[in-house]
Amino acid sequence: MENLKNYLKILKEIGVEEIILPEGNTEMSENKGLSLEEKQKIFQKLNKIVQECKKCDLHLNRKQAVLGEGNLEAKLMFVGEAPGADEDRLGRPFVGRAGKLLTSLIEKAGHKREEFYISNICKCRPPNNRTPLPDEMEACFPYLEQQIEVINPKVLCLLGATACYGFLKRPVKITKERGTVINWKDKLLVLTYHPAYALRNLSAVDILFEDIKKAIELAYSD
Ligand code: URA
Ligand code: SF4
Repeated sequence: MENLKNYLKILKEIGVEEIILPEGNTEMSENKGLSLEEKQKIFQKLNKIVQECKKCDLHLNRKQAVLGEGNLEAKLMFVGEAPGADEDRLGRPFVGRAGKLLTSLIEKAGHKREEFYISNICKCRPPNNRTPLPDEMEACFPYLEQQIEVINPKVLCLLGATACYGFLKRPVKITKERGTVINWKDKLLVLTYHPAYALRNLSAVDILFEDIKKAIELAYSD
């Protein structure tokens, strides 16, 4: 029942009038009783909505919004800050230098990027890649919450202090708090460095790797 309520809430929030009923032979996912096909439909609608979204001034500067990409059945989601120049141009998250580091650390841990879902606190690129403002994070967060609701991962790996702020609504000193695991709703948050920080402070790469491994282990443990 809870599943159905959540599903209807999401549809209402994203402005869907019609209700998509699962077909008899639709393969149901473990998560929330939504089939993969249903999740894809919701994400397509969500993508249309963020492409047209003007809830904050970041829309003024974007080429396109970047909703996120990856496995809609993922047990682990990575959440960064906001798209940079490459992401804004290509419409995909974490595809620049920081993204290449993230992808290579996932692979070094014996996994594939496509196993997980990757998104950001803000869906539009801030001017000159500045940090998103609290109001901008606040305006955009409901989209991420809807993504989390539909994907229903076990673990969220928060990349950098801005992602942590987005969830915890308080300043996070990431050098102090990285590696910690925090309960959030019925999920686990694993706090770690942003890969762009690790590119500037190479000693942080190994630590980021350890935290990513921890997030993956938690996601796949019973
Ligand atoms: N940095 C982020 O925080 N997100 C991206 O998608 C790319 C770089
Ligand atoms: Fe809308 Fe988020 Fe883009 Fe702001 S950053 S315009 S809230 S999609």
